[in-house]
Amino acid sequence: LTILGIESSCDDTAAAILHQPIVGDAEILASVVHGQTDLHAPFGGVVPEIAARAHAEKVDLCVEEALTAANVSLLDVDAIAVTAGPGLIGGVISGVMCAKGLSASLNIPLIGVNHLAGHALTPRLTDQVAFPYLMLLVSGGHCQFLIAHGPEYFSRLGGTIDDAPGEAFDKTARLLGLRQPGGPAVQAEATKGDPKRFRFPRPLLDRPGCDMSFSGLKTALLRQRDAIIAEKGGLPVQDRADMCAGFQAAVVDVLAEKTRRALDIYLTENPSEPLLAVAGGVAANTAIRAGLETVCTDKGVTFTAPPLALCTDNAAMIAYAGLERYHTGARDGMDLSARPRWPLDQTSPALLGSGK
Ligand code: ATP
Ligand code: FE
Repeated sequence: LTILGIESSCDDTAAAILHQPIVGDAEILASVVHGQTDLHAPFGGVVPEIAARAHAEKVDLCVEEALTAANVSLLDVDAIAVTAGPGLIGGVISGVMCAKGLSASLNIPLIGVNHLAGHALTPRLTDQVAFPYLMLLVSGGHCQFLIAHGPEYFSRLGGTIDDAPGEAFDKTARLLGLRQPGGPAVQAEATKGDPKRFRFPRPLLDRPGCDMSFSGLKTALLRQRDAIIAEKGGLPVQDRADMCAGFQAAVVDVLAEKTRRALDIYLTENPSEPLLAVAGGVAANTAIRAGLETVCTDKGVTFTAPPLALCTDNAAMIAYAGLERYHTGARDGMDLSARPRWPLDQTSPALLGSGK
């Protein structure tokens, strides 16, 4: 079975081709991503109107490039999977319209995919991972713990009540005059700094459950930065590194402790091979990975993270989630609609991909 995946929900236009032999694992034949970072850079964040226009312009090109790279013709494609939400609606519509057109003209099945299900199922594309497993999705726009029970059945244990960690890294970089995206820049500075010099809160650790909050870190950072500037007339390089180290250490502590709690809940399900998978751009952070690995080792749980290109937005994960849905018999019609909001734990089998 050969499946085409299309992704256009945020600021990456992407297409991918997966092939699954009758017996055996799915293989990525091609995965093409056209980012829009340069287009949005002058505005300091993703501008929905610009994103929508760029997706509309690039989506056909991405599909053509993926087909060429995979050395596959459109006539070889057996099904089309497309992100139907959640995301910036203008972009999602571009992908969904393209997928509908191809599905109708080629007379092949159309499968709507929840973008978050794409992230959450990625560990099964890259490794032999059995349900149920615990997933920490941690990116520029999301932060949540999910138990993946099946390809269409997820339960959400908790998540951020305000900013996502990636957003907090990006804001931190902006406040300290570092380049975007902020995550790698802040991480690099943090290696040169003292994490104990400045005090950062560990929000919500005093409360039970898996919910998190990251917006207070930015406020703490701003206050301390301004105090230094008032005192010294500028921000010396070492102070900046110390702030990055302190900020990152706070994020690591919060994620590690909340992961410990999420694992406790997950382990009550008695999984035979307990596993925590992490995905999302923030999973690239080595300090965060190390923190999560320590917690997993303590609890006797395997830790896994897909390769970075499959952790950030891509269409291979959408094609794969589509493939999993395909095997459950799920099919969507021309009434599949693009959804700006679509919580994953509401994707009960009956609702998932129905677009209603
Ligand atoms: P979403 O997928 O939720 O819609 P997104 O597309 O913004 O959001 P990703 O592409 O998964 O998210 O990840 C980008 C985010 O990851 C950015 O906020 C970036 O700063 C962050 N990031 C990347 N590398 C690192 C790192 N080494 N440390 C911390 N954060 C990082
Ligand atoms: Fe994403």
